[in-house]
Amino acid sequence: MKAKLQLPEEASALLVTHPANVRYLSGFSAPSDGMVLYRPSGSLLFTDSRYSEQAQAESTIEVEIVDPREGYAFLRKHLDVGVLAYEAHGMSCERLRKIASDLKIKLMATTGVVEEARLVKSKEEVQLIAAAARLSDEGFTHILPFIKAGAKELDVALELEFWLRKNGAEAAAFDFIVASGARGSLPHGVASDKAIAAGELVTLDFGAVIKGYHSDMTRTVAVGHAGEEMRRVYEVVARALQTAIEAARPGVSGSELDKAARDVIAEEGYGAYFVHSLGHGVGLEIHERPFLNSRSDTILREGMVITLEPGVYLPHRGGVRIEELALVTERGIELLSHSPKEYLEL
Ligand code: ZN
Ligand code: ZN
Repeated sequence: MKAKLQLPEEASALLVTHPANVRYLSGFSAPSDGMVLYRPSGSLLFTDSRYSEQAQAESTIEVEIVDPREGYAFLRKHLDVGVLAYEAHGMSCERLRKIASDLKIKLMATTGVVEEARLVKSKEEVQLIAAAARLSDEGFTHILPFIKAGAKELDVALELEFWLRKNGAEAAAFDFIVASGARGSLPHGVASDKAIAAGELVTLDFGAVIKGYHSDMTRTVAVGHAGEEMRRVYEVVARALQTAIEAARPGVSGSELDKAARDVIAEEGYGAYFVHSLGHGVGLEIHERPFLNSRSDTILREGMVITLEPGVYLPHRGGVRIEELALVTERGIELLSHSPKEYLEL
């Protein structure tokens, strides 16, 4: 990835240790065991001898194999005079202490420098995210017959993950959420050993990873008749989502978009039950910038990939969330997930 980063003025280089950023700058697929020294004149990937072959094959920047037991002194020969910036969010205090004592140069904490470059996706990145979303759509079709009364949430989640892995996902994007009935009121109810019962809504939130890039989608389906109230909640959430889809375009801020969807839900009296933000960016991380919430001043730009995921969660009763993954285009957004989202009774 040829990224041009905006370093703080005083800094001559940035030591990149946050794994997603290491992968972004180098293409190295074991980024937790590597780090990148970003310099405007050319960057280097450092990793250890276990990865000699893999790093040479994958890295788009120069590779140097180092011995982690020998500390960080090796960095000195690659540094000009000046200040070395580091990623405060990608560094333990212990590691920072070690770097400071090995290098004895001025260090400067930064955050979000590489993330700023990652905000707008390249064509190749969009293709990988779209491929992961397509696979998730196919996974959704595959899993529908498994969602029935008596089936355990965990078995549904495992079947879905197994199918995605068998069909090209290198990993599950996160621990899948399968939340049925009253558990649907848990926005982050990862699959449990609860059995799905007739008349319940089931929320599935899942995604695939392809070459490091994630997808993220949620659908809520009914097993038989879920009753009038939950059906009404479903219609409200679907309308909030549709409002967000229509409002999303370059120039709109994260908070404006969040408000557009939230207002629809609030007008129906469920405002207190939409307890999370409207959406988030997706890429090398499942949750990344831009974050779309009431405090977000990020302005949408063409090439960003975002989720729109309104939800209503009624404590001890159940919940509904529908989540789309979308690319911000010149005039609006293009949905990357295509699974039907009309109210569906299985
Ligand atoms: Zn999700
Ligand atoms: Zn999401």
